[in-house]
Amino acid sequence: MISNELLEEIIYISKQEKYLTMDLIEKIVIDSIDKCDPITQAKFSGIEFDLSIPKDPDILAKCDVKTGKITCCYGSILKYVDDQGLRSSLSNFRIVGSILHELEHLKEEYKISLNDFESKLIQNGSSALIFDLVIDKYFPGVYNKYKYFNVVKYILEKKWNLIYNKIWEICPDEKIAESEAYKAILGSVDKFPGFKDKYAFTYHKIKKLYISSLMMGYNYNSELGTYNVPLEDYLSQIERLDVENRIDSSIRDELYFADLYDIEERMKYGMPITRQDFKELKKEYLKR
Ligand SMILES: [Zn+2]
Repeated sequence: MISNELLEEIIYISKQEKYLTMDLIEKIVIDSIDKCDPITQAKFSGIEFDLSIPKDPDILAKCDVKTGKITCCYGSILKYVDDQGLRSSLSNFRIVGSILHELEHLKEEYKISLNDFESKLIQNGSSALIFDLVIDKYFPGVYNKYKYFNVVKYILEKKWNLIYNKIWEICPDEKIAESEAYKAILGSVDKFPGFKDKYAFTYHKIKKLYISSLMMGYNYNSELGTYNVPLEDYLSQIERLDVENRIDSSIRDELYFADLYDIEERMKYGMPITRQDFKELKKEYLKR
């Protein structure tokens, strides 16, 4: 949750058509960490700013869960906002979203300790695991030589962007982090008295950002009239990599009980949705 004062600052900066400063980003991170559980707080070791423009400018922030360090790719952010032109409030909330996404990864150790379905998904559905497997299978020996981010870099350099993005979007830990990040932003503005009326335009955009975060990994097939099931896709990828024993089989079983989850939860976990479900969710969220 972001405090009202920080939200005011983000809006103030956006109104002047400016982008988040490093100072404000740091304040948002510290504020969020302060509200986290003790495990995450102990894990967090600081934030650093990388001013260079990485190979993949879509990566606005990174998190090293081992060291607990959040890296804000400010060089990429500057490039990103440059490409976005003057859509400042949307861009600023996208930047906040990508930072909060990384914080969600930092919270994973705590989430795993809760021992529920989500904790199982995070343990068995991490992008790090699938990259490990992909690398093992297609580039034997590489994984041992490089660290995780270098493996990602390696994949990107090998023009594996398409595969990388496709896998990334269906990984349960990524889907959870992405939707929780935007849910936190939406929850924060919802708690801000009068935000909805005072900043109606921005409020509407934030709701749209949340809906698109839930949509990550879903594609509509107009011929079949159905959506793919990202969690299924992920499990099939893992099976294709021939390591089914490494995945807890109860995750697949849970798909039979998808009806017990509401539409937002199902989308967060990559479970089946119908076109009607999604239409209703959009209607619910986008009505003023
Ligand atoms: Zn992530």
